[in-house]
Amino acid sequence: MESTETQSILVVGGGMSGLTAAIEAAEAGYDTYLVERNPYLGGRVAQLHNYFPKLCPPYCGLEINFRRIRQNPRVRVFTMSEVERISGQEGNLDVTLKITPRYVNEKCTACGKCAEACSMEIENPFNYGMDRIKAAYLPHVMAYPMRYVIDPNLAKSDEAKAVKEACPYEAIDLDMEPRSVTLKVGSIVWATGWKPYDATKLDTYGFGQYPDVITNVMMERLASWTGPTQGKIVRLSNGEPPKTVAFVQCAGSRDENHLPYCSGICCLASMKQANYVREQHPDTKIFIFFIDIRATDRLEDFYRKTKGDENIEFIKGKVAKITREEKGDGLVLRVEDTASETLKEIPVDLVVLATGMQPNTSEAPVPAQVPYDDYGFIASQQAGQGIYAAGCTRTPVGVQESVQDGTAAALKAIQSIARR
Ligand SMILES: Cc1cc2nc3c(=O)[nH]c(=O)nc-3n(C[C@H](O)[C@H](O)[C@H](O)COP(=O)(O)OP(=O)(O)OC[C@H]3O[C@@H](n4cnc5c(N)ncnc54)[C@H](O)[C@@H]3O)c2cc1C
Ligand code: SF4
Repeated sequence: MESTETQSILVVGGGMSGLTAAIEAAEAGYDTYLVERNPYLGGRVAQLHNYFPKLCPPYCGLEINFRRIRQNPRVRVFTMSEVERISGQEGNLDVTLKITPRYVNEKCTACGKCAEACSMEIENPFNYGMDRIKAAYLPHVMAYPMRYVIDPNLAKSDEAKAVKEACPYEAIDLDMEPRSVTLKVGSIVWATGWKPYDATKLDTYGFGQYPDVITNVMMERLASWTGPTQGKIVRLSNGEPPKTVAFVQCAGSRDENHLPYCSGICCLASMKQANYVREQHPDTKIFIFFIDIRATDRLEDFYRKTKGDENIEFIKGKVAKITREEKGDGLVLRVEDTASETLKEIPVDLVVLATGMQPNTSEAPVPAQVPYDDYGFIASQQAGQGIYAAGCTRTPVGVQESVQDGTAAALKAIQSIARR
């Protein structure tokens, strides 16, 4: 088929669902633009330590996709970019992208000389702010594209010139400005995914107040060798291994005051993380406080295996409050054990809040007429004429479903063009 401008497909969001949609469409012969807000592709999966069902590191799956992109000239990637405007109709859509300056061009070899010359530090967004990095930084060690970023505050600082001169490859360009790019496309896949529910809104759980109350996404980074502790699961208050760990399920989920829905994934994520703790600290006692356990299909076996572990205790009951121990530096969970109908106070060293997944579209909607449900997820796969939704922008799902959904959305986007 001859390719014209309007036979191109735009994919917004470079997580598992968007990556899949872009690659599948390109491999079917369509020119594809992949637009990603972060300086790297991979989405939230890139931040996991391991992922089920196989419990392998995320780069097993991501690298295969990056190779497919590298080998396919039909995929054009824009990082640090967002869609500002969409107009037109199915088969003939005009899109305006806003591109934020990276201040580093394609000549970068990721040698790190700029970071060596830089003294300014920033919070590390990849590790959810648990450590600090230089303001000239590689987003993470496996980043795609493997290219440094200069923080805008560094680019404007007195230090910028010395950092630029430290680069042996003339890869730093401090004159880069925000710019707009317009594209003509036939159809669009929207796959902007999710963000963790803001745990500071859970005012009885002490997140932000007690350093040993962390969230499930932070636990993924703590367990990872590329994380803030090089993979050591420790208490953030004192760097010591925890002797007791509590996972608090439905932290803000299935709750009218926060996220009224179930994110489906967090039960499995906590069981996975309980196993991270068991592997590192075999004597650590683990509690999982739950309302109901959600484990579907083959993952029921994983639940049974975890439940059979003598050091992992499942307690049915919602945690009401987390406070600091009166004597000592631990935490105390107040919970009603619904099986024994007793109120319990359980002291632990580390608490992991299993917060849910909130769609990014709840805060950054598609700049076009698109139907949403009450929670901000795009209400149907066909989001509009020529616009299709995939992955966690539609509903909370795991990686496997995101890949299936990305493939389905690519097919719909292709059909959209074929109809014209
Ligand atoms: C604690 C935890 C552990 C998990 N562990 C597992 C596991 O072991 N196995 C499993 O199968 N699933 C797991 N999941 C679920 C998994 O993270 C999701 O299935 C996956 O992230 C969905 O991919 P996605 O592409 O839909 O969304 P995302 O991963 O969120 O990707 C969306 C992408 O879009 C980008 N984006 C956002 N807004 C914009 C914008 N306006 N413009 C451009 N780009 C934008 C984002 O930067 C991101 O790169 C876990 C979830 C949690 C909470
Ligand atoms: S910008 Fe230059 S100095 Fe910094 S990592 Fe890239 S090539 Fe090396």
